[in-house]
Amino acid sequence: MIQLPKKICLSCRHFSLREIDSGYCKVVKGLSTYPIKLVDDTCAQWLNCGQQYFIRTGWIKGRMAQEKGEKVNTESGIIWKTEQ
Ligand code: SF4
Repeated sequence: MIQLPKKICLSCRHFSLREIDSGYCKVVKGLSTYPIKLVDDTCAQWLNCGQQYFIRTGWIKGRMAQEKGEKVNTESGIIWKTEQ
């Protein structure tokens, strides 16, 4: 059975991952700077980002492994700059 992601920023359609633990919330469009949220923050405007969640978790795993100097091997490989 597929486990549904928790309703956190990391699994939200409005989230743009930047670091392994944080990113921008773009629920309000057109701002010159977007508020920074932690990956496990949440709010009432959460929307499921679907497959993006797995790409993001793969990217985080890859970054963490790279920072530890380990050989990187994740399900989705390393995906740099998945979002702009
Ligand atoms: S703060 Fe709310 S709308 Fe913004 S990314 Fe997190 S869950 Fe989504």
